Amino acid sequence: MSDPSISTTLREQTLHLLASGKVASRAELVEALQVAPSTVTGLVRRLLEEGAILEEGVGRSTGGRRPRILRLRGAEGVVAVAELGAQHARVGLCTPDGRLLAAEEIAIEIAAGPGEVFDVVAEAFGRIRTTSAPGQAMLGIGVALPGPVDFPHGRLVGPARMPGWSGVDARVDLAERFNVPVVVDNDAKSAAIGEYVVRDRAGEEMIYVKAGTGIGGCLVSGGQIYRGGRGLSGDVTHVRVADSGERHCSCGSRGCLETVASGAALVRQLAEQGLKVARTRDVIAAVTDAEPTAVTLVRHAGGLLGVALSGLVNFLNPDAVVIGGALSSLDVYVAAARGMLYERCLPSMTQSLSIEASVAGPDAALVGLGHLVRAAADVRTA
Ligand SMILES: [Zn+2]
Repeated sequence: MSDPSISTTLREQTLHLLASGKVASRAELVEALQVAPSTVTGLVRRLLEEGAILEEGVGRSTGGRRPRILRLRGAEGVVAVAELGAQHARVGLCTPDGRLLAAEEIAIEIAAGPGEVFDVVAEAFGRIRTTSAPGQAMLGIGVALPGPVDFPHGRLVGPARMPGWSGVDARVDLAERFNVPVVVDNDAKSAAIGEYVVRDRAGEEMIYVKAGTGIGGCLVSGGQIYRGGRGLSGDVTHVRVADSGERHCSCGSRGCLETVASGAALVRQLAEQGLKVARTRDVIAAVTDAEPTAVTLVRHAGGLLGVALSGLVNFLNPDAVVIGGALSSLDVYVAAARGMLYERCLPSMTQSLSIEASVAGPDAALVGLGHLVRAAADVRTA
């Protein structure tokens, strides 16, 4: 076992260098460790025999024979994923087969525009890779945006509350920054496919609603996202609902679901009632504290979501309606939507319909992005 010419320190230094991703060949190890090539040859042979490292492919040649690439065993690479909201983003890492390895929340300002937002996200990707997957190559990137995305191109189509983003080709922008394959999709669609994967009920026809500061939707049919003609399906937020107070909507119309049942609408309504709320999470806190006005308004909002969904359920006859997003943590919101669906839909439609809060929770979109990136890679390699 012991080879007097190879010290324990040298062995650890080698593993550390390979883990850092800074070196990937025998020649680079010679350079970094400042030892004789024969020492590195012996060291690498030993580590290969131990199974601590793998040898694969060929690297870039700097003249002469192309070097074999050395990797730590298990270093299969990672996919970086991020779901962007108005003032926060959830960033994480997935394995190549779509399993979420790590996730954290960071502050962003979506209104600052793509340049600044992607700078912050890129920094977070770097940090989370260093702490959670050192030495792992970045294989791809998935990003979910809170607006209509022309999939698979990744171009934003008239997003509300995202100044500076309209017409931006986020996929090209990110691919140029990172030089890896990139998938960009709408946040509700990413979350829907994540929810579908986590629920693991093959073949289930599912309507997914992401009810947060805004409201997005998605139909998952035959295990696939139903995208529609231009990829803009699922825009349930601009369905006109009765009892909505005919308020002006960001789309230019009046009485849209968004003006009454979204987190942004609830913030506005509660502020009008004199409550100190500025963000969707303040609304959630008020309901959790059983603040009577907040509970009443959120129940009303959930009911109106149910009204908007009832037409879809009668038309599509899904197996499940799943409510995700921040507001899905409020039982009163989900229960009111469920009650209204039972009231408004045909009994034959609701008999076997499950109406539930998301089981994938806040990481739904990250899980979904991991799968979308994998699916895109499968297409490319097929
Ligand atoms: Zn609208």
